[in-house]
Amino acid sequence: MMRRIILGFMGLHILHHASKEAITGTFMMKELENHGYKVSPGTIYPLLQNMEKLGLLKSTWKIKDGRRIRTYQITQEGIKVLEESKKKVKELCMEILGDTK
Ligand SMILES: [Zn+2]
Repeated sequence: MMRRIILGFMGLHILHHASKEAITGTFMMKELENHGYKVSPGTIYPLLQNMEKLGLLKSTWKIKDGRRIRTYQITQEGIKVLEESKKKVKELCMEILGDTK
């Protein structure tokens, strides 16, 4: 259960960043680490690939410093899911954290 919730948060976080720029697994691992998540390549890469299978991300291969790297960009569907999730997250935050205004 906890793992599913965390994967959900990570997925949203990935969508958020992929909506700003093309991301890589390495970038997301560092980014999530900064937010206090411990993520291994064994978690992040299957998650990215799964999100691509779901049509939320689209990957392209690029050459960087002579190495092939896979970058991910958000799709139209991903943007829809992100926008929808933002509303839900906002509602949820207001409810579980309380409206402190
Ligand atoms: Zn972030």
